[in-house]
Amino acid sequence: MHEFSLAQSVFDTIVSIAEKQNVKMIKKVILKFGMFALVQEDQFKFCFDIVKKDSEKTQNTILEIKWIPGVLRCLDCQFEGEIKKVPQDHIELAPIFKCPNCDSFSTEVLSGTETIIDSLLV
Ligand SMILES: [Zn+2]
Repeated sequence: MHEFSLAQSVFDTIVSIAEKQNVKMIKKVILKFGMFALVQEDQFKFCFDIVKKDSEKTQNTILEIKWIPGVLRCLDCQFEGEIKKVPQDHIELAPIFKCPNCDSFSTEVLSGTETIIDSLLV
């Protein structure tokens, strides 16, 4: 499961940061996900709540997720803009993004595939 391995890697990263900085408890972690990273928020939260119990530092960590807009450029019609809705039927496949202007699949992602740990509150 995509969300589970992502939650695990976020967990590993924040615990190692906390260890390096001698932090006892992480109160809150703020993550930034791109719209095109295809992370399902509910599933991610569910997975994070499981993995966070593996460390005393993260047992009570509150998770906050911020979304980065997905921006697409079409190579056929030169459309460039934000895609508000990512088609759910592509979630299981390699992400393919259709131009909302001309329906072309020759598109380039300009932003929105990020999964970033934005900040930790300790
Ligand atoms: Zn187009």
